[in-house]
Amino acid sequence: MHPKAAKSGNRRFGRNRFAPKPTSSKRDCSANRVKTFFSTSSCLHRSICILHCAKICFLPLHYRFDQSSTSQTVPFVIEESLIGKYIMRGLNEVQKLKAFCKSLPKVELHAHLNGSISFDTIQELVTLKREIFPEFEGLSDVEKTLLQPKDVLTMDEVFKLFPIVHSLTLHKEAIELATTRVIEEFAADGVMYLELRTTPKATAHMTKMDCIQAITSGIKNATTGPRAIVVKVLLSIDRSRGLKDAQDTVELLKQFVQKGESLIIGVDLSGNPKVDGRQYLPLLTTVREMGLKITLHLAELSNYIEELDALIAFKPDRIGHGTFIHSHGNASTVQFVSKHKIPLEICLTSNELCGTTKTVADSHFKIWKKLANPVCISTDDKGLMGSDLSNEYFRAAQAFDLSRLDLIDCAKTSLKAASLQHDDSTFISLKERLDFFEKECISIALKS
Ligand SMILES: [Zn+2]
Repeated sequence: MHPKAAKSGNRRFGRNRFAPKPTSSKRDCSANRVKTFFSTSSCLHRSICILHCAKICFLPLHYRFDQSSTSQTVPFVIEESLIGKYIMRGLNEVQKLKAFCKSLPKVELHAHLNGSISFDTIQELVTLKREIFPEFEGLSDVEKTLLQPKDVLTMDEVFKLFPIVHSLTLHKEAIELATTRVIEEFAADGVMYLELRTTPKATAHMTKMDCIQAITSGIKNATTGPRAIVVKVLLSIDRSRGLKDAQDTVELLKQFVQKGESLIIGVDLSGNPKVDGRQYLPLLTTVREMGLKITLHLAELSNYIEELDALIAFKPDRIGHGTFIHSHGNASTVQFVSKHKIPLEICLTSNELCGTTKTVADSHFKIWKKLANPVCISTDDKGLMGSDLSNEYFRAAQAFDLSRLDLIDCAKTSLKAASLQHDDSTFISLKERLDFFEKECISIALKS
């Protein structure tokens, strides 16, 4: 979420889409047990599920992921410290739901690198900057106060954090460290596939190329070894940096594509939503002709939607936020999104913090779900907004009365919307992992 995007009926969803229609009384009973097991109101069954889901996470399975240009075998390993959380007895309902969200293999499609940097990593970046630039005196007292852990963050506080992160990520060593840590944290949160986006910047200490190379190095650091996460990159075009800056980014992108670099898979249009995005359409067409994916931040603000028809007609692969499409877009535009099932990346906490949705329950998530349009639960800026992807799933479950199976379905929807070919070996492996998780959950439910 860009700072400029900040803005000055709770409906229930059917939650049993997954359960097969029973044909006999025995199956009736089984189906009901699955239904009960996965419903948000069941207690005992779900506590068993948590235990078994924990076991699923620890199974010594091996899948092949095409992580970059070279394939590697990645075992499913979750940090040992998480075991206790899953197998601990006496969890209350909220804790059980949280544990399920954590154990679910998730897909993150809308994560900005800078906004995803945690407070712990910010401290590391301060130390690193001190080492490289001895004249740097560290953070001011006001900045240190902003970085104190808080239970509740305000929009004002969050947007004061962005300049701090920006000032600490002006050199390539910082970009590499930040990328590494962000990926490690997503992996620890049970994210199995991550599309990380950032605007490559030239500064006094690095070129744009240095910046991109530092990101790819960070990805290689964080995904080498037994960490079950696949990471791809979207290069962001910042609306407010102008056409020349965007052209430079696309030129660099061409060089990476020509070298066969498979980590960078597309382009994101982001930045100040008050700047008209239509000027970037010819460039985005060039990107598409290169065989890359395109996702556009759209309709973040209700009063800046003149561009909407043209950008939707471009038929992006995904839409970031799209908060006011249903309410302020033309009917034909809403129909176009719905007809082509263009996935929306929806970031509940971010929208709430920025005031573009009043509460999570008021989110446009429910509108698009009702239209059977793909919605991808995402974080936007997990580090600075203090909400990881498990928490976003948890909040969605609570606000929209989603069952365990609905949550698995959300992860599947995101995977389907990822910038991967569906016959790609990485996609197939990830899909197998989710299918396996789902099958095991149902099997446990039937046995319980
Ligand atoms: Zn965003």
